[in-house]
Amino acid sequence: MFKSVVVFIGPPGVGKGTQASLLADSFSIPKFATGDLLREALKNKTPLGVEAKNYMDSGKLVPDQLVLNLIKGKISALDKETGFILDGFPRTLSQAQGLDEILLTLCHNVSLAIEFSMDEEERIARLTGRRLCPNCQRTYHILFAPPKKDSLCDYCSVQLVQRADDNEEVIRKRSAVYWETTEPLLNYYRQKNILKVVDASSSIENVFSRIKHIFQELN
Ligand SMILES: [Zn+2]
Repeated sequence: MFKSVVVFIGPPGVGKGTQASLLADSFSIPKFATGDLLREALKNKTPLGVEAKNYMDSGKLVPDQLVLNLIKGKISALDKETGFILDGFPRTLSQAQGLDEILLTLCHNVSLAIEFSMDEEERIARLTGRRLCPNCQRTYHILFAPPKKDSLCDYCSVQLVQRADDNEEVIRKRSAVYWETTEPLLNYYRQKNILKVVDASSSIENVFSRIKHIFQELN
């Protein structure tokens, strides 16, 4: 029924993953996040997984082509009538071009790119409010999902901690790098006339209803 290839673009903290899951469940289409694909390949010790592990063990970034091959493996196996969602990929212009090359060999193309837009200060507040239980790994948020007792895990009563990545200075530094690489990517999809911007600062339900509407217009 659906042939849509949808890519979700946005920095950490905008709720992309949640929305990708909602859209995937709602329309019974698969979604792929590169982190999951890598973990799966590593776990199953596939040839690509073994190759990726070599890069990771030597502290190198996994090359784009390897990630693209992982995606290719997944989508080649899909029914041609099925679409799919890519959550957080591509992140750069060259990844987007690589993705287009793969899709072309399968007679597909990206039909929709959704940019999750959020005020930078709000996004930083969301990220810096995240807390983690170092014991059971449950996550909390001081504003949106606070623990019952101040800064203690509901289940283990262990003092919650903040991930080093959620530190404001780290977030701001990463943010600068993010915009530098993402702006050309957004322009690429904008020029193809397939970029839609969604205000991600609204509630999960509101954001999803907007995405659903955009998605349904495609089909
Ligand atoms: Zn806990």
